[in-house]
Amino acid sequence: MQVLKIRENARNVEEISWQIARAKKMVVVTGAGISTSSGIPDFRSKGGLYEMIKDKFPNEKVTGQQLFDKSYLNNEKIRKMFYTFMGELYSLTTAAVPTMAHRFFKRLADQKKIIHYYTQNIDNLEAAVNLDAVQLHGTMSEVYCDMCKLTVQFTEMHAEVFKKGFPPQCNECQQREATRQASGKRKHRIGDLQPNITLYNDIDDTTRGAYIQNCVKNDLRKKIDYLLIAGTSLKVHGVKNLIRQLAKSVHHNGGKVVLVNLSGVGKEWNTVFDYQILADVDEWAGLVEEHTGLDKTQKVLTGLANKTSKSVNVSISKGCVKRRRKDRDQDRENAGSNNDNNKKKALKRSKVEVLDVVETLQ
Ligand SMILES: [Zn+2]
Repeated sequence: MQVLKIRENARNVEEISWQIARAKKMVVVTGAGISTSSGIPDFRSKGGLYEMIKDKFPNEKVTGQQLFDKSYLNNEKIRKMFYTFMGELYSLTTAAVPTMAHRFFKRLADQKKIIHYYTQNIDNLEAAVNLDAVQLHGTMSEVYCDMCKLTVQFTEMHAEVFKKGFPPQCNECQQREATRQASGKRKHRIGDLQPNITLYNDIDDTTRGAYIQNCVKNDLRKKIDYLLIAGTSLKVHGVKNLIRQLAKSVHHNGGKVVLVNLSGVGKEWNTVFDYQILADVDEWAGLVEEHTGLDKTQKVLTGLANKTSKSVNVSISKGCVKRRRKDRDQDRENAGSNNDNNKKKALKRSKVEVLDVVETLQ
């Protein structure tokens, strides 16, 4: 692995820009570093969201990780903190704007270079530039019902309830319950709406995992020729595995694996990355466009890409997105078959809930 800096290693950095311009089947994985200039403050910084929540709950001792851990949500006070945090975070993400990095990846996608764009970010800023994203940890743009599993758009109205420390109730469940009661049937619980994000120790969250695995399988089949990782210091176990798997495939196909991030990563990555560029992702993205004229020659390059790749990869990418929306419940049932006993138990619970819904509709 070669460690490069934009100014000191200008020639190598420019060579990488040209590699990107030539790549045809890229996979991109992004993290918090691409959203730093969007207006969303770092959770842990002074005056950041975490500090603000702690001020509201001065007697509670909870770490950032515990706040995002489903097993801690059984504690009433932590649950209240979590929901307040989610309400505030929603308002921050809706006020944020996409960065230079988001626009850069959108341009690469428009040129049919990207097979899949994965992100660890839950801010959904990709949607603001119409960039299809596989959201590894979910999104703050949706809430789902923990009873009937209905997923709807996260709105300011939901955020206002969350900010008071409670989850909003599901309209669908409320309507169904009203019908049940009118016909004299026994009472069912009305579901709570939860932000559609991945929490630590969430054994019920099997749908997202199955969907991501499906996308990765497609990538491995498509002989990807470039892996670009941006704005992450690779702390999350699942993401580390994803990158190792994809990098192996890229190297097998003779391609390159590049990390762009402000801070460096450890020696464990020496054989995974070919290059590590120590830079702000926005600044680096601007440089690639300057080197290669990617932004100015979009139409020409798109035309060329269409002739050579016939957009096969893009249709797979879109297929994945479609599948996620249509088959959410089907995935929830299928995904359990290869998992451990805990997950099977969770799946049984979710099946019971689905059956309850079916029952109420009859
Ligand atoms: Zn519901």
